[in-house]
Amino acid sequence: MEKREELYAGKAKSVFRTDDPERFVLVFRDDTSAFDGEKKEQLNRKGMVNNCFNAFIMEKLEAAGVPTHFEGLLSATETLVKKLDMIPVECVVRNVSAGSLCRRLGVEEGQELNPPTYELFLKNDALHDPMVNESLAVSFSWASEAELTQMKKLTYKVNDVLKALFDEAGMLLVDYKLEFGRSSGDSTDIVLGDEFSPDGCRIWDKETRKKMDKDRFRQGLGDVIETYEEVGRRLGIRFQ
Ligand code: ADP
Ligand code: UDP
Repeated sequence: MEKREELYAGKAKSVFRTDDPERFVLVFRDDTSAFDGEKKEQLNRKGMVNNCFNAFIMEKLEAAGVPTHFEGLLSATETLVKKLDMIPVECVVRNVSAGSLCRRLGVEEGQELNPPTYELFLKNDALHDPMVNESLAVSFSWASEAELTQMKKLTYKVNDVLKALFDEAGMLLVDYKLEFGRSSGDSTDIVLGDEFSPDGCRIWDKETRKKMDKDRFRQGLGDVIETYEEVGRRLGIRFQ
């Protein structure tokens, strides 16, 4: 496999074409951003930590029957993935109230949500990722009914797998965001793309409720990458 030209540089990762038209390379950079790119910093080792973290989680999900784009680690900061036609809708599950949910509804942080909530947001930084729903997604052809049904099913399946994984390691999976894509244009062929790392979820220590995710960066709590590594160590991830 040969890495070719860069197709897209996002806020935290870059996407490269390869000599295989069906595969891309994702490069995890040290760039860290929050508030739709308004707060930006370089955090040493972040690319490596998130790349290894994501590989570990994608392998767990794949083993549990969630189809993912993950093909293999290429280096400390690079992963080979299946090329997907990304669906511009982010799927968010919450087990505990936090973040935009509290701001939007005026509810207190830390309430257990039973059953967990499921929300959709349009991936659009300029509009600050507005909340949308299935009707809007279908009417604007962002995704079909069948694709949305599959995305929801897989997002909840991810919750079953990861809630238990974090719980066994003494942590609470508060919420997370997933992105899906089409691997072949067939609506039954919905595949989990992008990444799962402490950048795109909230994780708290079960006992102390210490924040162990990107809220450390958003809220200026310090030790961002050291804490990501602590989460990884508790899960048994070996960083390079
Ligand atoms: P953003 O675009 O939100 O700034 P990133 O910096 O993480 O985010 O950029 C990664 C980009 O790559 C995202 O737009 C994401 O949707 C896209 N992407 C992730 N996985 C794949 C894939 N398998 N195929 C095509 N695009 C992908
Ligand atoms: N999230 C994300 N990217 C986004 C929006 C949200 O990774 O563009 C994640 C976020 O880290 C959190 C979950 O999705 O784990 C829910 O985010 P929320 O709606 O509370 O928004 P936020 O408070 O992050 O603005």
